Amino acid sequence: MRVLSACIAHETNTFSAVPTTLADFRHASPQPDPGDGTSFGGDAAIRQAFAGTHSMAGGFLDGANEQGLDLEMLLWTFATPGGIVLQEAYEYLRDLLLRRLRQAGPADGILLHLHGAMVSEEHEDVEGDLLTAVRQQIGPRTPLVVTTDLHANMTAAMATPADTIVGYDEYPHNDMYERGVEGARLLGDMLAGRLSPAMAYRQLPLITMPPKQCTIIEPMRSLLAFAHELEARPGIANVTLAMGFPFADIHDAGVSVLVTADSDRALAEATADEMAAAIWARRDDFTVRLTPVPEAIEYARTHEGLTVLADGSDNPGGGGPCDGTVVLQHLIEADMQDAVVAIIVDPDSAERAAQAGVGNNVSLMLGGKTDDRHGAPVPVTAYVRLISDGTFVEQGPMGRGVTAQLGRTAVLVVGGVEVVVTERRMQPLDAELLRSVGIEPTRRRLVALKSAVHFRSTYQDLAARIFDLDTPGVHRPDFAAYEYRRLRRPLYPLDDVSWPGAS
Ligand SMILES: [Zn+2]
Repeated sequence: MRVLSACIAHETNTFSAVPTTLADFRHASPQPDPGDGTSFGGDAAIRQAFAGTHSMAGGFLDGANEQGLDLEMLLWTFATPGGIVLQEAYEYLRDLLLRRLRQAGPADGILLHLHGAMVSEEHEDVEGDLLTAVRQQIGPRTPLVVTTDLHANMTAAMATPADTIVGYDEYPHNDMYERGVEGARLLGDMLAGRLSPAMAYRQLPLITMPPKQCTIIEPMRSLLAFAHELEARPGIANVTLAMGFPFADIHDAGVSVLVTADSDRALAEATADEMAAAIWARRDDFTVRLTPVPEAIEYARTHEGLTVLADGSDNPGGGGPCDGTVVLQHLIEADMQDAVVAIIVDPDSAERAAQAGVGNNVSLMLGGKTDDRHGAPVPVTAYVRLISDGTFVEQGPMGRGVTAQLGRTAVLVVGGVEVVVTERRMQPLDAELLRSVGIEPTRRRLVALKSAVHFRSTYQDLAARIFDLDTPGVHRPDFAAYEYRRLRRPLYPLDDVSWPGAS
């Protein structure tokens, strides 16, 4: 059985000031040119980048092998989360995928990975548009299986063209590989006649923020366990909790549930109602508590072990610029010792540090250059401890084996604070990032990370204490910080809602 596969993924923060361009996708893609002049991957390049890695593409490849499917990877690109995607960039990628699907010829099935929260200038539901176009091209009968992120803002327009959608279960997304294997398995089951998917979609009048979407703490730990209970029932193929991406001012941002049953639509519908009711019953447990930065610093100063400060408001994994300086400024003012800030994206400062050279001092205006919402540039005289090419191989469960590239990277020492300054944006979720530049996090007192939740995939076991910081930014987990215009209303907790969808 011949299966064609692709990924076009972006998590779009509509509050970000920085639009996402085709270059952002190109940069993040397996580079070699498949022969059509685009340099957007192609089967060989995608396999070279991901075969054997603990990633979604790695899961597709292994899952297809297990199912005896002949998988051809057509296109694989995911830009770092950022502002609204330029319309020309989205249309270029969509048309490229449709062209490659056409050129590849007849297929028995299609296996796609999409994020589920991509917004372009003209489409607030990009995936709905993309899946509709793919379905139109492949016809009504070819099985179409889609995997998505836990942060998908799921819509009816996405659910309708797909036979089944499998979202990540976990946040941190430690199970991307496993969901990739599962997607390939469900497609294999369909092609072998073992599964005739009937999918139900339920949107809740509920929106939630990242710190409490984390599935290793309540209420999500219990809700995910319940989803797995439902999944284990006879006739249920998949239960997906799409918790939504709240930093998108679109109609459908928020929480939804997808249930895929074998042949039995009524069972899918009833199970989706049951799951939705369970989430709704816990709606008050999603309230986020943030800690003022000075309080967290004082805790670290007076307690043994590693304290991790999560500066989720500037999380590049959700569209933050990752050059915010609020925490750094606090650490300098507090004269904190034995502290690390990871990372501040500032290509100019990284370049100047490299020119000054290791072992020398350099005067810089550090960070704060993207916008005026994440703190001002900080004037520093810094000691240049290390310069590197920013390349390291991820070791955590969210991408073990994948090569990460931060570009030119400098470790600067400002008073008692080591600052990792990079050329490129990337969420510092893997402790290997620090180790690759000679910093062992467990031998520091405080590490401040531009990450909301994903850092827990490797830091949860290293940290004695973790604080979600009260900082400003485009990824601040606080509904009062945003002016929503397009969200459907009423929506809990922004409005009082009595929901007939659950008792
Ligand atoms: Zn996510």
